[in-house]
Amino acid sequence: MSDRDPSFCIRCGGTLESAEIDTRVRWLCPACGWVHYPQLKVGVGAIIERGESILLLRRTTAPFQAMWNLPAGYVEEDESPERALIREVLEETGIEVQVKSIAGAHYFDDDPRGNGVLLTFLCSSNGTDPQPSAEATEPTFFTRETIPLELAGGGHDQAIRAWQGGESPHNRAVQRTAFGGG
Ligand SMILES: [Zn+2]
Repeated sequence: MSDRDPSFCIRCGGTLESAEIDTRVRWLCPACGWVHYPQLKVGVGAIIERGESILLLRRTTAPFQAMWNLPAGYVEEDESPERALIREVLEETGIEVQVKSIAGAHYFDDDPRGNGVLLTFLCSSNGTDPQPSAEATEPTFFTRETIPLELAGGGHDQAIRAWQGGESPHNRAVQRTAFGGG
């Protein structure tokens, strides 16, 4: 129960009432029987490396406006996480990526749009330079030593810190193969 809870049934417009259903108090429409089941959002974020650096973008919009995050977005309900990631990276940076392997899964409860899970994937690109977009400006490659302090929430701070901590030796090996050395 939170301030994101609905007041009215999305099916018939009836006024919702709270009821205990499946071991939790949930919102129920007495008129038509619809039950509101809140579920986590699914986001995807791209880990795009160049040498020893990772690509971050500065957000142009709230929440976390002007903070740094991975190229990322929500997964639409009719697309796979990999397809969503390719779409979002292209929209935000103009880069066409290939999704190589999953890098992490980060639960977050600090985004006012709702709690969720950010899935991150190691991606390779053809080396095209990223371009700024309406959603994200200042595309910049940062080394582990130069990662900015102002990291966005929504799982991004966790994912970027995990990369910075070098928790994924497997990904390092994949990255070297993808870029032909380094
Ligand atoms: Zn209803």
